[in-house]
Amino acid sequence: MMAYKDPKKAKENYLRYRKRHLEEIREKDRIQKRIWRKENPEKVKETNRKCYLKYQKKRILDQRNYRLKSPEKVKESNRKCYYKHREERCKNMRDYRDKASPEKKKEWYQYVQNWHKENPLRRKEWHFAKKFEIVSHYTNEEFNCQNCGMVGISFLTIDHIEGRKKLRHDRNTGTGEVYRHILKNKFPSDFQILCFNCNMIKEILREKKVSQTRRSVWRRLHRKQLKIEVFSKISKPNPHCQCCGYDDVDGLSIDHINGRKKEGHGRNFTSSDLYSWLKRNDYPPGYQVLCLNCNAAKGQLEICPHKKMEMIQIE
Ligand SMILES: [Zn+2]
Ligand SMILES: [Zn+2]
Ligand SMILES: [Zn+2]
Repeated sequence: MMAYKDPKKAKENYLRYRKRHLEEIREKDRIQKRIWRKENPEKVKETNRKCYLKYQKKRILDQRNYRLKSPEKVKESNRKCYYKHREERCKNMRDYRDKASPEKKKEWYQYVQNWHKENPLRRKEWHFAKKFEIVSHYTNEEFNCQNCGMVGISFLTIDHIEGRKKLRHDRNTGTGEVYRHILKNKFPSDFQILCFNCNMIKEILREKKVSQTRRSVWRRLHRKQLKIEVFSKISKPNPHCQCCGYDDVDGLSIDHINGRKKEGHGRNFTSSDLYSWLKRNDYPPGYQVLCLNCNAAKGQLEICPHKKMEMIQIE
């Protein structure tokens, strides 16, 4: 560069040079600063700290105002952050929970139980809303069984088309977990909507195909004979649903009229246990035959929609 005697001209020249090589100069600056920061970490820390304290109050206020002004955006970004770190957080929580003392575990368990007792509707509402969304998507808002056409959301269930094992879902996988899986994966094609009767019949057919050893064939035959015998005694003369008249034995079940708990039949008391128990005790009152659809609807709504319609007609 040529040296100018006139300072004004020199400045002009410098500015022109700077304008032409602006990016280069900035890059050089950046590199130098980076090096300086690496060499003086203590100083950097101090400056940052000072700056932080200087604007602390203002920042807190600004943040509060932002949160108040746009709650939707905050919610959105929180949700994004939650899903981004979800796996990691779940793992940490699991580790923490596993290491906790038995007393602490008991305390947590109690807390959750109390919450559900205090908010019985919240859980039910959540389940119903998710089920509604999923069933309406898979049935194109017709709310019918894809096999027999039965209409009514309380009669419908979500079926794993190729079995639960394919998705590593087993008997202990809760419905809530299945709902979450479907919504997270944007309605995958592994599922269809069936009524409870069709779902059970499909399951029985699948079992017949899968296990064909002599022992299991004999066991199935024995179970079915017992079922027909017991059901014929309760819903005379032939096994049928005492609410809607459905008469395929595979879709029928025994209903505890006043609930399982009152009779002291826990979760481990299987249906076969119940059939032989009924036969042994000479068919005590308090039991009726319902198809799985009516049984499920009764469980969800306390009165099956069929009965409700009858009541309306009588009135
Ligand atoms: Zn059906
Ligand atoms: Zn029925
Ligand atoms: Zn019914």
